[in-house]
Amino acid sequence: MNVLVVNCGSSSLKYELIDMETEQSLASGICERLGTDGAKIEHETHDGRTYEAAVEMPSHTEAFQEAVSALTDAEYGVIGSLEEISAVGHRVVHGGEDFAHSVLIDEEVEEAIDRFGELAPLHNPPNLLGIRAARKLLPDDPHVAVFDTAFHQTMPRHAFIYGLPWEMYAEHGIRRYGFHGTSHRYVSLRAGQYLLEHGIPIEEHRIVTCHLGNGCSMAAVKAGKSIDTTMGFTPLEGLLMGTRCGDLDPAIVIYLAQTLGMRLEEIDRMLNKESGLLGLSGVSNDMRDLQSAASEGNDRARVAMDLFAYRVRKYIGAYAAALEGINCVVLTGGIGENDHLQRRWCVQGLEHLGIVEDPAKNVADLEYEDGIAPIGTDDSPTHLLVIKTDEELMIARDTVEVLSAQ
Ligand code: ADP
Repeated sequence: MNVLVVNCGSSSLKYELIDMETEQSLASGICERLGTDGAKIEHETHDGRTYEAAVEMPSHTEAFQEAVSALTDAEYGVIGSLEEISAVGHRVVHGGEDFAHSVLIDEEVEEAIDRFGELAPLHNPPNLLGIRAARKLLPDDPHVAVFDTAFHQTMPRHAFIYGLPWEMYAEHGIRRYGFHGTSHRYVSLRAGQYLLEHGIPIEEHRIVTCHLGNGCSMAAVKAGKSIDTTMGFTPLEGLLMGTRCGDLDPAIVIYLAQTLGMRLEEIDRMLNKESGLLGLSGVSNDMRDLQSAASEGNDRARVAMDLFAYRVRKYIGAYAAALEGINCVVLTGGIGENDHLQRRWCVQGLEHLGIVEDPAKNVADLEYEDGIAPIGTDDSPTHLLVIKTDEELMIARDTVEVLSAQ
């Protein structure tokens, strides 16, 4: 059974076709700059055949068509016809409080995704466009929605409610939702299997997962359930990110408006697009560029890197308290999987929590075994793991699971 996974952004559509018998990716690609003159598709098959072309794609509908054409192409394809796609799994960012699990998409689900567009105006509308385009082209296939917020729906009230007047939550839905749930779920499941293999039963699992990519968030996962996470009402809260500021005194926003006379759109742009690693360093939002700038003596790049790691350490401490103990820390995402120096700094000084990095294992070129690389010392009480995240596979697995439950 082949599942097609679709992930739509405002001007892009990413896709991956996965054979669920073997869980092997058959092909993947991205259609980007949709609606512009520079629209193009990049496609790659599991056996290394690549295809790149400029194609006119005014919307997600044409992009989905292009993706499917590439998958069925005589030269670059991996399947003979559309019949070989059994189901489609869609990444959806916001499921509000309605969706704690993945669901089969029908009109009602589409309406709910549309409604939650109020809470995720940059993400849910393109997600919905992708769903509509795919359902139009593959009307007989089942389509499943997998929500970024769903995994965090198990957070207790004291973790998700802000200290605002109650009506803000009850009437306006202003609460912490959390994001990156599919990645946190995937790596915490993998870590959970690892802990089981090391004799720790599931009820004792106290895992802190750190998704450190361009967007960054952490989750506290107790016996398989998320009990807290760093992103909140929007993905702006929590860790320092590529261009987002993370935690901030909310009075700063008032100061920026009242005293500095900034308009709301300017503040919004600053906090989301011009802050974080980029804003602090003035160099780049990419940790690789900061590493080289810092090695040439750029002090602002150094501060940005220090602040990044400090927040991760601070939240590991906070989550050890929230979890009433800790027996595993997982690092993942572009930075977590590739940057051994940040990995070191993110856990430095946490030996009192049983977290001890082994410099001989935490090297630039990690040795993964089945997607997991332990980087803690053999005798450290808390397991320290780098795990390659795979949100697409998680979405495809959910799609199969939802279908088999029908
Ligand atoms: P996204 O959050 O967009 O999915 P990724 O998880 O792929 O992104 O992370 C992208 C980020 O990972 C880059 O912006 C960069 O900061 C970081 N990164 C990727 N490779 C490396 C590397 N070799 N060393 C340090 N940082 C890296």
